[in-house]
Amino acid sequence: MLQKSSPFMKQANLINGEWVGADSGKTIDVINPATGLKIGTVPNSGKAETRRAIDAAAEAFKTWRKTSVLERAKMMRKLHDAILDNQDALAELLTLEQGKSLFESRGEVGMSAAYILWYAEEARRTYGDIVPSPWADRRILVTKEPVGVIGAITPWNFPSSMLARKIGPALAAGCTAVVKPATQTPYSGLVWGALCEEAGIPKGVVNILTGSASEIGGEITSNPLVRKITFTGSTEIGKILIKQAADTVKKVSMELGGNAPFIVFDDADVDRAVQGAMIAKFRNSGQTCVCTNRFLVQSGIYDTFIEKFAAATQKLKVGDGLETGTEQGPLIDEKAVAKVEEFVADAKQKGGKVVTGGKRHALGGSFYEPTIISDAKEDMLFTKEEIFGPVAPVYKFETEQEAIDLANNTEFGLASYFYTRDLGRVFRVSEGLKYGMVGVNEGMITTVEAPFGGVKESGLGKEGGHQGIEDYLDTKYVCVGGLGL
Ligand code: ADP
Repeated sequence: MLQKSSPFMKQANLINGEWVGADSGKTIDVINPATGLKIGTVPNSGKAETRRAIDAAAEAFKTWRKTSVLERAKMMRKLHDAILDNQDALAELLTLEQGKSLFESRGEVGMSAAYILWYAEEARRTYGDIVPSPWADRRILVTKEPVGVIGAITPWNFPSSMLARKIGPALAAGCTAVVKPATQTPYSGLVWGALCEEAGIPKGVVNILTGSASEIGGEITSNPLVRKITFTGSTEIGKILIKQAADTVKKVSMELGGNAPFIVFDDADVDRAVQGAMIAKFRNSGQTCVCTNRFLVQSGIYDTFIEKFAAATQKLKVGDGLETGTEQGPLIDEKAVAKVEEFVADAKQKGGKVVTGGKRHALGGSFYEPTIISDAKEDMLFTKEEIFGPVAPVYKFETEQEAIDLANNTEFGLASYFYTRDLGRVFRVSEGLKYGMVGVNEGMITTVEAPFGGVKESGLGKEGGHQGIEDYLDTKYVCVGGLGL
C-alpha cells in the first residue's frame, strides 16, 4: 500500500517551484471511493494562490519560450521516462483515489507517458510556411509561436492522462501552465509537479493547485495573462468557462460530454461486437465521455446480441480496484450512484426490462452492478442524458437510415461506434454520423496519434495527433519588405 510519505503523494500546491499549502491553511479531504476512507488532504486554495501561480507561469514563459525546441523535447523525454519508471506506484495512486482497476490505471499511466513522448516528437515539427509573394520586393513568412500561459482544468475520470494531453502540447509548444486537477482525484494531478521536477523542467513552467473550482476557474478564465483555457469535463461547466473566457478573448479547447451510440447491424460479427461493447461500456465503470450511452441494435440480431452481451456482463468481476482480478471498481461517489439509480428507475417505469444487474452491488458503498436494460425507448432519460455509469440501454431499430437518425438525435457529438461487415455501409454510416470520432468494428479507439475531440456540444478543438498542438500555438505573419528587385 502506498504510504503517505510516498514522494508521489503530494499534499501541497506547486507554485513557482515551491510546494505550498493554501493561504488560509484550509484543506480538503480526499476519499478512496472503494472504501469510503480518507486517504489524505490537499490545499483548499482560491483566487490569490491562483493569481500567484499565473504570475509565476508568466515569468517562466519569458525564458521557457526561448528554450530551444530540442532542449524542451529532451526534458519531455525525461518526463516520459520518469512516468514509465514509476508506472506501478502511479497506477496505485490513481486506483486509490479514483477506484478503477489497477490494470486500467496502469494503462492510463502508460497512455500519459505516450502523450508526452508524442508531443516531445511533435515539438520539433511546428512548421510554418514561406508563401509565394505577390510583391517582387517582399517576402511572406508565416511562423508558429506559443500562445503564452495556459490554464488547464481536468476531471476525475482520467486524472493522469487528461493532464498529459494538456501538459504535453503546452510544454512542446513552449507554453507555461497553471493546472487545476479535479478535487476528487487531486494526487494524480499534483504528482505531475514532482515528475516535471524530476525531468528538470524549470520552476514556474508547470504550476498545479487544488481547491475551490469556481475561484480557481474564475481567476484562470478572467486573468488577462492566461491566453488559453483547456478543459475536460461536463458540457455544463464547459459552457460557463467559455462564457467567462470571452471577456479576455482567450483561445478555448473543450472536451465535454458525450452520448455515444453503439450501432450493431444485422450483418455484424456479433462476437466481435460484444467484445467491443464490453470495453465501450464498462471501461472505468462506464465513467468516460466516450463510453457507450445507447446501444442501437438491428431487429434481426437484437435477441442474439443481448443474450451474448448479458453473458459477458455477468462475468465481470466487481471489487476494489486494488484487488487482483478486479475488472470493475466503484463509481466515483454516492451522487454518481444516485444518478444511475434514477435512470434505471425511470427506464423500468417506462417499460425497460432489466436483463442483468439493475441495482446497487452487494459490496455496498458506491459499487453498482453492471447492468443491461432492453426495450429502451426514446422517452427514457438516458436517451438524452449522459449516464456515466455501468448501465447499458439497448434500443431496437429496423433500417440503416433509422439508426443514423437515432444516433444523431442528440446535442452531443463525441464518440460513436458501429459494427457491420458491409463495406458500402462502413462509408455511408461513418459519413452520416455527426460525431468527432467513429469506431468501425472497434470499441476503443483512443490513441495518441489520432485527434480526439467532439463536434456540436461535445466540444471545441482536438487533443492528440498532430492537430493537438495547434491550439497552443499562434500563427504569425511577417512581411519582410524593401528587398529590392
Ligand atoms: P464532472 O461532472 O465530471 O465532475 P465537472 O465539469 O463538474 O465534471 O468537473 C470537471 C472539472 O471542472 C473539475 O476539475 C471541477 O473541479 C472543475 N469545475 C467545476 N466547476 C467549475 C467552475 N465553476 N469553474 C471552473 N472549474 C470548475
